Order: sequence, then C-alpha cells, then structure tokens
Amino acid sequence: MSLLEVTDLRVSFSTPDGTVRAVRGVSFAVDRGRTLGIVGESGSGKSVSTQTLMGLTPGADVRGSALFEGRDLLTAGEREMRGIRGAEIAMIFQDPLSSLHPLYRVGWQIEEMIRAHEPGTGKRRARERAVEMLGLVGIPQPARRADEYPHQFSGGMRQRAMIAMALALNPKLIIADEPTTALDATVQAQILDLMRRLQGEFGTALIMITHDLGVIADMADDVLVMYGGKAAERAGRRPLYHRPHHPYTKGLLESAPSAAGGRDRLKPIPGQPPSLINVPSGCVFHPRCAYVMDRCVPDDPPLEPVADDPGHVSACWLPHEALGLGEDAERLRL
Ligand code: SF4
Ligand code: MG
Repeated sequence: MSLLEVTDLRVSFSTPDGTVRAVRGVSFAVDRGRTLGIVGESGSGKSVSTQTLMGLTPGADVRGSALFEGRDLLTAGEREMRGIRGAEIAMIFQDPLSSLHPLYRVGWQIEEMIRAHEPGTGKRRARERAVEMLGLVGIPQPARRADEYPHQFSGGMRQRAMIAMALALNPKLIIADEPTTALDATVQAQILDLMRRLQGEFGTALIMITHDLGVIADMADDVLVMYGGKAAERAGRRPLYHRPHHPYTKGLLESAPSAAGGRDRLKPIPGQPPSLINVPSGCVFHPRCAYVMDRCVPDDPPLEPVADDPGHVSACWLPHEALGLGEDAERLRL
C-alpha cells in the first residue's frame, strides 16, 4: 500500500455567487520516499486538494478518501490531525511567514514545535536540534542565526528555515506548495537542490505543487497534471515529459521556463482558466484547446490508460499519436 492514497477527492465551497467546485474527483498516490509533482495553473485545484488533506479547508464539502498509512485524513478529528500535521505530514509554503511567526526568534520556533510534539524533549536538546537543522539546510553560523527574527533573514534563508522546520520532526511526507515561486532563479535552483538532497537523506516522501513543469523536471518520480479541478493527465516523469498525451500538458511544457531556453521561446497557453462555478460542458479544457473536436463540447472524456505506458492515464478524446512533441522536452534538458 502507498504511504498516501487519495481516491476520488471532491471539494466544493458554497459562496454567495454559487457553489465553487474546486476539486472534482481526483485520485493519486504517493509511495514512501518518492516525489509526486502536482502541476497546474492557479485555480486548477492543486492547492485546495492538499490543504483539504491537511484539514485546512474548513466549511468545505469534502467527499472521497485520503488514506495515510491506512487512516483516512478526511474523517480524522481535529485532535488527530493536530498530531499528524507537522509530525507526520509537514507543509512548506511559498510564503515562509505563513509558517514562521514574525515576532519570535527562528530557532525558538523550531524548538517549540519539537517540544509541542515531543513533550519528553528537554529545552537544551530541542535547542541543539533546532541549531542542527538550521545548519543542515545551509544556514551559516546556525547557533547565532537561531536567535534572529524572520525579518533578519533573506527570502532564500527564510525558505531554508521553513524547510528546517518542516524536517525537524522527521515527517514521512512533506507537501511543498510553490516553495520557490517567490525566489529568483538562482536561489530557486539552490532551494530545489537542497530539498532533493535532504529528501534523499531523510527518505521523506514529497508532494511538490507547482505551476511550472520546469521546477519538477528533475525531481518528480510521478506527475499529476490538474486542470479545472480534475486530473488531465497522470504519468511517470519520463513519459509525461517525452510522450504527453493531453493538450494541456503539452501547453504547460511549451510555456515552462527552463535554464536552457530563453524566455522569448515560451508559448503561453491562450485563454483563461475556467470558472469553477459555471464549469464548461464536456471537456473542461475545450474552450482553450487547439485540438478541440465536436465531441469535446458535450462529452467529458474519462481518465483512461494511454497505450503502451503502464500507469499513464489521460482525460482526452484524441488518439495518442495526434500530439507531436520532442523539442519541448529537450528544452527542459531531460
Ligand atoms: Fe482538447 Fe478535446 Fe482533448 Fe479536451 S478532449 S483536451 S478539448 S482534444
Ligand atoms: Mg496555490
């Protein structure tokens, strides 16, 4: 059994304008020590999905199941979730200040988290571990910097501190939601390197959420592409980058920035993400799809296996051979 198995997750919210159907039947699994990339534009449902698993979408109507080592996160009580959050599943966000409190010293925050989850750990030992973690994520002079406040850290250093905090309790799974989006390209590459290295050292499973396929090109084992609250395509990394089936995946590949190609070569996907209140009929991508056919407008394509690729599924009526690709994957230097 996988570490985490999410089956037919559905999340909707009531708003004065109508029901927002943010996630509409998404399934995925993450094995121990592996990395799943979840990719899509804003509004695809990628963040809502994982926030729901963590019990962070109060007021939402949630269906489906999310088994973490056999326990269903979707039916766990708040008390049980408090024990799981941080200790077994940790989260890293784009904005470190959503995890680091601006008014407390960085080291102290890590110590407190350790002591909250492990009441047997003494103050001294917690301090040692906090400093050790800060050193491990590449913060120079960690014993001194542990006594600084978040605003005294650069953006990249804050992100490192948040990673230290996420790893401090040795969780089995880390969910990272756009962890490098706010950083410049050089710092972004350093942080991704660090995450990859620490993940190997700690054997942590990782869900990496991003709008940019370039970010996970050399770290994901599997990739789930989401669009309009649904899975468009799901595959191992190589088949996804080299033999994508879904036109949306192809669009993301063509619009992904990379170290190799200049930004002038990027081709953004025309149009806007769909309304999640008045969801388009048929294939949710049809208003933007360059390959749209008559049947796409009334008929919603099911997620189906793609020929010859075990584990590769896609929700598109096109025959597999219809999409040419090659250059895009090359550009991402795979
Ligand atoms: Fe495009 Fe039709 Fe495939 Fe949807 S089902 S992605 S509209 S070709
Ligand atoms: Mg998001």
